[in-house]
Amino acid sequence: MDLGISGKRALVCASSKGLGRGCAEALADAGCTLIMNARGAEALEAAAAEIRAAHGVEVIAVAADITTEAGRARVLEAAGQIDILVTNAGGPPPGLWQDWTRDDFIKALDGNMLTPIALMQAALPGMMQRGWGRVVNITSQAVKAPIGVLGLSNSARTGLTGFVAGTARQVAGTGVTINNLLPGIHATDRANALDGAVVKKEGITLNEARARRAATIPVGRYGTAGEFGATCAFLCSQHAGFMVGQNVLLDGGAINSTF
Ligand code: NAP
Repeated sequence: MDLGISGKRALVCASSKGLGRGCAEALADAGCTLIMNARGAEALEAAAAEIRAAHGVEVIAVAADITTEAGRARVLEAAGQIDILVTNAGGPPPGLWQDWTRDDFIKALDGNMLTPIALMQAALPGMMQRGWGRVVNITSQAVKAPIGVLGLSNSARTGLTGFVAGTARQVAGTGVTINNLLPGIHATDRANALDGAVVKKEGITLNEARARRAATIPVGRYGTAGEFGATCAFLCSQHAGFMVGQNVLLDGGAINSTF
């Protein structure tokens, strides 16, 4: 299917690895010019070079911490016009509700709620003026079904979801859509880190931890960054102009609910 977005400029945050990388790959495959970002310059440059070679598109790589004001300013300056914005950043660490301090919450809110909001505030006016734009926020299945040990994530991402629910409807009349993509368990470094915590706590092997988690997913396996990226690219496509303020769950059926 032609997604109709060839030549659009797409900023994909936190995209040297994992789900962000999957989104960058799929948008490059659709012919978008990419602005990619991550903190580590080496992995970012390597990912950008691979995508340029595979898809023949222009890729601008900006090594910066997207959760800081200075990092965002550098990324936004390098990006210039943004037609498509995919927000993403690392997730907060797991822990216990009684241990989290105010500082822990501020850090989580900064990374997973206030950063995507600041990026939307920067990108939306230009999109609205040009009469076309797409925003996809990478959030989490935790928005639909809370994960106790990820209370910092549950809190920050639910705040972002509330902001999007209202704002998406305020900007929709200008040809700009905002939607959220909710990953369930996907085979990325983040999933490995969470499995590693289970290995430590329960004294089992990494393979056992993975098999246990895979058994909780009706499709019987972890999702892939490729599947995730393809869904993101569809949400950014010309065909998705009637999808507004939705929370699209990609979890292999793990959350057992009718809606
Ligand atoms: P990942 O494999 O660990 O990749 C994270 C990517 O983001 C890397 O490229 C990393 O590069 C970059 N990054 C992290 N923090 C950054 C920052 N402050 N500024 C700029 N770049 C940053 O993670 P993932 O699995 O793709 O997860 C992406 C998001 O989805 C996370 O918020 C995660 O919590 C959420 N999620 C993931 C899953 C899953 O199963 N994978 C499930 C639910 C939710 P650098 O380290 O070099 O910056």
